Amino acid sequence: MKIKFFLCGCSQHALGVSRETFSGDKGEVYFDSIEFTIWQQPTNGIYTIREKLRHIWQIIRWGHPYADFVDLDLESALELRDYLTVLIEEEK
Ligand SMILES: [Zn+2]
Repeated sequence: MKIKFFLCGCSQHALGVSRETFSGDKGEVYFDSIEFTIWQQPTNGIYTIREKLRHIWQIIRWGHPYADFVDLDLESALELRDYLTVLIEEEK
């Protein structure tokens, strides 16, 4: 899986963006999406034992290391792309 991270302005969070394809038992794709995951970063940028344990606990409890996620189907992802472009262009 290819993922690109975008750091939050507060430097304590990151947005991971990747493409996720969900397949059934026979390999048929039933949902093709762009996945956005929210990651919490150590306050000082250094992964202490406590930070590492927090990540491990997150994986044990929820099955993944990130705090939350949103999967957009490709049509919604294109709408998001267009909306981001509008927002960015408005500020120029
Ligand atoms: Zn933040």
